[in-house]
Amino acid sequence: MSAPQPQPLYPGAPRRCRACHGPLTATDGDHCARPACQTRARVMAAQDGVRRRREAEEAAEAVAWARTGDPLRTAAARAGAPDLDTVAHGFAPYMDLPVQARPMDVDMAFLHRLSDIVARSFDPDGAPDGYRSHQEPPDPDFANWAAHVPDETPALDAACIACQGDCCLQGAGAKAFLTTQTIDYYRHRHPEATAEEVRAAYLGHLPEESVVGSCVYHGPLGCTLPRQMRAEVCNRWQCRWRLALAARLETVGGDRAVVVGLARDHTEHPQEGAPYMRVVSVTPDGVQVHDDLRMGAMPPDPAAD
Ligand code: SF4
Ligand code: SF4
Ligand SMILES: [Zn+2]
Repeated sequence: MSAPQPQPLYPGAPRRCRACHGPLTATDGDHCARPACQTRARVMAAQDGVRRRREAEEAAEAVAWARTGDPLRTAAARAGAPDLDTVAHGFAPYMDLPVQARPMDVDMAFLHRLSDIVARSFDPDGAPDGYRSHQEPPDPDFANWAAHVPDETPALDAACIACQGDCCLQGAGAKAFLTTQTIDYYRHRHPEATAEEVRAAYLGHLPEESVVGSCVYHGPLGCTLPRQMRAEVCNRWQCRWRLALAARLETVGGDRAVVVGLARDHTEHPQEGAPYMRVVSVTPDGVQVHDDLRMGAMPPDPAAD
């Protein structure tokens, strides 16, 4: 809803600028042409935009709750938390891409890239981004990285498993975002590893099957590469849903979480049981994907009354 337009106090009275209250010309909008008033107009437009986005997000979340609140509560009860307030929970995006054995050319392209960056790491003269030998004093970049690689509770992965890795689609073309620096860091932690052993370590974590069109490490339950072996961006990046779950884990505490991954276009499929969600719980006993739970029907649109 946009802000109300200024109205003349009586018929025939001049329209007034919303900022300085000076008279407006026929071609002015609701602010006059003075730079200060135009700046004020831009600020108000930006504030309106933020408010509208927040209102749209709140409305979308209310619909999401109406459709998935019951399955979320059921999954929480199965995860040992009959009261939803006592367990970290939330939403995530949901992708419905199949998981399949990777085509040969995808594996070959990844192997080529991996061999290249491993060779660069082991070749001091051939590494344009610099070789940091494990025998040198501790590399400050590595020390900084090592201090910040998140040591997170596995419960936080409930968001990414429900989502199935929306953000990891970017890792397909980027070959898991691995760089010579990633390999250097691995070698800092495994100083005795030979080039062949480093390659084998990375190849050994490839899942049998990956999400079609996504990163090679994107398996059916999320990333299969241990955090310490991932590229920096994969450790740094957290979407707003994962951040929200992290905040709830912080508040509620505990070692479990329940998340509904919900397709962005679920509202186009209003019927009960529409297959556009994935409910996941993570507890110390492991991951459970609650495929049997059904999405509710779309609630009536209050604007239609
Ligand atoms: S970080 Fe967010 S977008 Fe990426 S996989 Fe996890 S939940 Fe999905
Ligand atoms: S390495 Fe893991 S976190 Fe990074 S893009 Fe690939 S699947 Fe996602
Ligand atoms: Zn003005």
